[in-house]
This record gives sequence, structure tokens and C-alpha cells, in this order.
Amino acid sequence: MARKLPRKDVVIVGLGWTGSILAHELTDAGLDVVAIERGPWRDTATDFNVAYAPDELRYAVRKDLFLQPAQEAMTMRNSTAQTALPMRDYGSFLPGTGVGGAGTHWNGHTWRFFPSDFALKTHLTGRYGEERLSGLQIQDWGVSYDELESAFDRFEYLCGISGKAGNLNGTIQQGGNPFEGPRKREYPLPPMQMTYAPTLFAEAARSRGLHPFPTPSANLSGAYVNPLGIAMGQCTACGFCERFGCANYSKASAHTTILPVLMRKSNFEARTECEVLKIKLAADGKTASGVTYTDVNGATFEQPADLVLLNAYSLFNVRLMLLSGIGKPYDPSSGEGVVGRNYCYQTNASAQVFFEGRSMNPFIAAGALGQTVDDYNGDSFDHGALNFVGGAGINCIPTNGRPIQYRPVPPGTPRWGSAWKKATKQYYNNTLAFSSQGSSYATRGNYLDLDPTYKDRFGRPLLRVTFDFPDNDIRMSNWVSDRMKEIADAFGGKQVVVGRQQKGWSSVPYQSTHNTGGAIMGTDPKTSAVNRHLQSWDVPNVFVVGACAFPQNAGKNPTGPVGALAYWAADSIRNHYLKNPGKLVEA
Ligand SMILES: Cc1cc2nc3c(=O)[nH]c(=O)nc-3n(C[C@H](O)[C@H](O)[C@H](O)COP(=O)(O)OP(=O)(O)OC[C@H]3O[C@@H](n4cnc5c(N)ncnc54)[C@H](O)[C@@H]3O)c2cc1C
Ligand code: SF4
Repeated sequence: MARKLPRKDVVIVGLGWTGSILAHELTDAGLDVVAIERGPWRDTATDFNVAYAPDELRYAVRKDLFLQPAQEAMTMRNSTAQTALPMRDYGSFLPGTGVGGAGTHWNGHTWRFFPSDFALKTHLTGRYGEERLSGLQIQDWGVSYDELESAFDRFEYLCGISGKAGNLNGTIQQGGNPFEGPRKREYPLPPMQMTYAPTLFAEAARSRGLHPFPTPSANLSGAYVNPLGIAMGQCTACGFCERFGCANYSKASAHTTILPVLMRKSNFEARTECEVLKIKLAADGKTASGVTYTDVNGATFEQPADLVLLNAYSLFNVRLMLLSGIGKPYDPSSGEGVVGRNYCYQTNASAQVFFEGRSMNPFIAAGALGQTVDDYNGDSFDHGALNFVGGAGINCIPTNGRPIQYRPVPPGTPRWGSAWKKATKQYYNNTLAFSSQGSSYATRGNYLDLDPTYKDRFGRPLLRVTFDFPDNDIRMSNWVSDRMKEIADAFGGKQVVVGRQQKGWSSVPYQSTHNTGGAIMGTDPKTSAVNRHLQSWDVPNVFVVGACAFPQNAGKNPTGPVGALAYWAADSIRNHYLKNPGKLVEA
């Protein structure tokens, strides 16, 4: 029997990036807020001490900061013709856990999607005709880039993003990304100082008529005090960034940008090592009365609240909705239902250039320190004569030269023994790598639901992921790989190796923690789970915030738009919902 606790105005499920932003905004509005986080409390001084933060075995290999399947696993299959099996280890993607969420150990690439991404169906059908989208389930977001501009800006200034504007109020800026949407002001900090490999990459790209620019980075190029008055330091390019907490207060995360202020507020409380099991619905089935959760000792509690915010990461937001009966589950055979619809991922490919005698010094690196080319991303180029839609950013961002896992060697090198050691020694410092990160568009058959067989330790069905890379995305990614080969050949290296995205998604090798969709936003309750304010169509006092709202994924990392959506939802709650609780959009 769950112990019933005193009522709160707001209960937030998950205290990662979005949970922290919403908690800060709503406590500022005077609400009494509790955040329930299933992982442990963490802060920089105690948990990312400079003496042990760069422990590659602990953090990168053994994944110390990540969710373990013993706590929550999921099953996967490539199509409905297969039987899904549980992932015994997280590999392809690595969900976060603990205060700060996956933002604790992210890289920090901080993007805005293109304006056309937010109205993708309208844009692509207008330019290429409806026929071009056949086989894809592409949708508009229901919110435009222009509406989100100030929310993007707030997230970038919260974080101290280091970059160069490419489009200021419609005027293209030298040195920035000429394909980006108009922004109202410059980034808060200038770009990071470039290292050697991205500098060479930019030269090679420019020689081919492309437009390289510094990747917008949440690793800070200089000292910064954010609008909440929190001070951050300059990144030292330590190379222990992705999968690690930052010992240096230089990587924007909830820890370094919000929590020092949030934790001092008397109207905020964080309960850690407490896992939300379900959102409780009132007898009408249309109002959430709160959540039930279990603490580290196994005791269960009911936390009543007027407003329930799901900020548990895209995949877990969707699972909690399915477990709680919020919204109709998606059925791929009929195409009906919304929760689980349009699950998307990311298409990736890599290029390596092996040199002799050109020191790249890969150990001088940060999660987002590099150069990007967007000439082949989104709809920056004409797809008229091509057999796909979408595109990919090409990124030269050498994130690390860490001693255990960074061992580039040319294909054909033996995998152990003296020949492997010799090649490792030769190529550790003499390899330049870059990669494509491409769009992932929705199809009817890629989706999330509850597994009919496998259960968690509480007896609840696991989330089932049904996904394979759509043919459209494979064609797109391979076309971009051909463009990468052209750039790689321009270096004049000893050997060039270009990878290609393959069909048959595997959950084993790490690819990307950019899982999107499943609770998508839109203007029609028949094809979206939440409205343009991220409010559940079916249970209006539930808001669902995260990349689960993306109708499809773009060729960029998601957290810039995720942060913007968190501010957008906070504004909707503060300015509209609190004044008149109920549906913000009638359909
Ligand atoms: C290795 C890595 C590198 C990345 N690099 C980048 C990058 O360079 N750029 C980029 O844009 N994105 C990057 N990402 C993705 C980025 O981290 C996420 O987009 C972002 O953290 C999502 O924010 P969120 O609030 O939705 O989820 P999170 O920040 O993950 O927070 C969700 C929180 O909810 C908690 N939770 C889940 N279920 C429950 C429950 N039932 N009860 C209570 N609490 C719960 C979790 O423990 C977690 O703390 C990276 C991710 C990883 C793992
Ligand atoms: S590379 Fe920079 S931002 Fe990343 S962990 Fe090191 S000091 Fe921090």
C-alpha cells in the first residue's frame, strides 16, 4: 500500500536537462515543486573531482554514470516479423541516470534545427511534391522556428554556448553557418580555439567550395557568468568529456548552469533514488492526480500534484505514458493510435584519413570542439534529382585520444599482437577522422510499445523498440558518405577509409543517444500525442517534455531543440495554463 504524501503544485519526473529547466521556471512562478529522480544525487565538487574524473575504465568502458539494464532494460527487434529480445547491456545508446541526467556526460554539440525542419511535411511537399514522401510518415511540428527562436536563445545563454552566428536577423555572417535560421543575437561566447585536425578539415572543405564553421559548443571557450548568476570556467580540452562529468565547471549541464540556484529555493525539493512507477489518473481518466514511486528501500509512495511533468528522457517518457494509460497506444498495422508513433534515431557514417608524420595530437580535445559542414544537411541542397530526402551534417570533432579506446588502425591490421601494436603506435597520432550525422525520418513500422513477454523487477512490461534504418535514410547517408570521400581524398593522406550506414540496426555498438519520437507534438490528436505546448491531448494536466516530441529527427544533435522546447513548455504553463487550467488547444 503506497503512503500518501502531502499535495504539491507540480511533480517533475526526472531531474536531467529538461526537468531542471522546468523546475527552475515553475518555482520562479511561485509554485511548490518536487522533482523525483531515480538515480543518485551528484554534484561537481564531490562526484567529478579532478583527481579521478578522467578514469577511462570506470566511466567510458564500464559506463559508471549510465543507466544499467538491471534497473531498466528494454527489448529490441528490427521489424514486427521478429521477436524482440532484451538488451543485456546498453550499447547502441546510453541513457543517463542521476541528477543532471544524460546532460552530465554529453558532448555539448548544441544546435538549432533548420526552420524547414519544423514544417518538414509542408516544406518538402511544396518543393518536391507529395510523391517524394511515399513510405515516410513525415509531419510538421505544430510550432515554428520563429516561435522557438527566443527559447533557443535562452537555452544558449543559460549554457554559455561558444560559436559564431551564421545568420543574424536575416543577414549572413562570415565564418558562421550560412544555412542556419535567423538568430536575434550572437552566441554568448566566441568559438573555441581550433585544434589541428578540424583546422585541416575546414581547409579541405573550403577548397571544395563548402562552408565549414565552428561547431556550437557547450564546452566553454572562456569564463562565463550565466543569466542565473552562475560562474563557469574555460574548457581546458582535457579529452575526457563524452561519458564523463566535467571536473572544471566548463561543460554546460544542469549541475553547472541551474542546480546551484535551484537547490537553494525553499519551494523546490529533489527526491533522489526514487523511481516513478506510474502516473495516477483520477476516476474520470482525464486528469492526473499525481504519481506513485518507490524509494531506494522499496517503500512506495503516492505523490499527489496538480500538474505532472514527464522529463524522464524520450524513451522513458513514452514508457510511462504507456504504463499509465495516457493516450492511445500506436498500432503500426492500422496506423492508428499515437503513443509510440514515429520513433526515430540517427544515421551515422565515418571517414578516416591515415597519414605518415603529421601529428594530430588527438588528446587535445573536447566533446564539441571542431568544425562542421552543413552544405549536405537537411534541405540545404537541391534534392530534385536525388532519390531521397533529408541530409547530414559532416563533423570533424576529435573528442578524445584516450589511451584505452582510441586506437585507430587501417583495415587489414591484425587485431592483436606485435603488428597491431606497431600500427597503433604509428597511427595514434597520425589519423584524422570525421563523421556524418544524418536525419532519421519516420516510417509506419518504426515505433515503441510495451513488450508482451518481458517484465521489469516490478512486474511491469519492458519498453519494446521496433526499428530499422529506413531505405530513404540509407540512400541519403550513403550519398553523404560519397561526399565525405571527396573531402577525405583532398587531404592527400596515405590511406582513406569511408564507412557507410548499413541496414539492420544493432543494439550492440555505440551509435548515438539521440532517440526521438514516440510522444510527438502536432496539431491533430489523431497523429500526435501532445499538442504544440507539449500538453497531453488526453490528460491536460500532464506535459511531456523531451526529444520524444520530435515528429522526426534532423541531421543534428537534439539537445538544443530539447532545451528550447523545455522553455517553450514552461512559458505555456506560466502564461496560459496557470491562468486557465485545462486544454490549451481544442481539437
Ligand atoms: C554519451 C552521450 C553524449 C551526448 N552528446 C550530445 C551532444 O553532444 N549534443 C546533444 O544535443 N545531445 C547529446 N546527448 C543527448 C543529451 O544528453 C540528451 O538529449 C539530453 O540529456 C536529454 O535531456 P532530458 O531532460 O530529456 O533527459 P535526461 O537529461 O537524460 O534526464 C532524464 C532523467 O530522468 C530520470 N528518470 C528516467 N525515468 C525515471 C523514472 N521512472 N523516475 C524518476 N526519474 C526517472 C533519469 O534518471 C534522468 O536523470 C548525448 C547523450 C549521451 C548519452
Ligand atoms: S573537455 Fe572541457 S568541457 Fe569537456 S570535460 Fe574536459 S574541461 Fe570539461
